[in-house]
Amino acid sequence: MELDELIKELDKKLIVIKKEIINEIIYIYCDTEKQKTKCKYCGQESENVHSTYTRTISDLPIQSYKVKLIINVKKYFCKNAKCQHTTFAEPLEFIEGNAIRTKRLDNYINGIGLKTSSKEAEKQLKNTHVNISNNTILRIIKKNENRN
Ligand SMILES: [Zn+2]
Repeated sequence: MELDELIKELDKKLIVIKKEIINEIIYIYCDTEKQKTKCKYCGQESENVHSTYTRTISDLPIQSYKVKLIINVKKYFCKNAKCQHTTFAEPLEFIEGNAIRTKRLDNYINGIGLKTSSKEAEKQLKNTHVNISNNTILRIIKKNENRN
């Protein structure tokens, strides 16, 4: 599967603009497609871009490479005079809130974490090129439990 397709699986609006490999990490730089987006505070649609900012998000490893997404996230103007906010960041469905990992990476960590002790999970994950501390594994499991 092509890298671009893997990224589109996360979100169709992601556009890969550059890839580079440094020290066994694949950095994938992405823009998002400009589109009508609902203000997360009031629900009014906007396609007027205010600015962009960068988020760095870890994703599932590809073969022996760790994957980091560098995403230029758009901020849109909210033109609704009654809205408390003049701008809002576009939603990224594949990340939960301010997380630094994709949901699919967290699900993967959760799956391994549930099968074994967190220390052992840390080792197993390291073998599949996911470096994460046992404390973080426990946090991810807890977060998933609370959701169910
Ligand atoms: Zn608004």
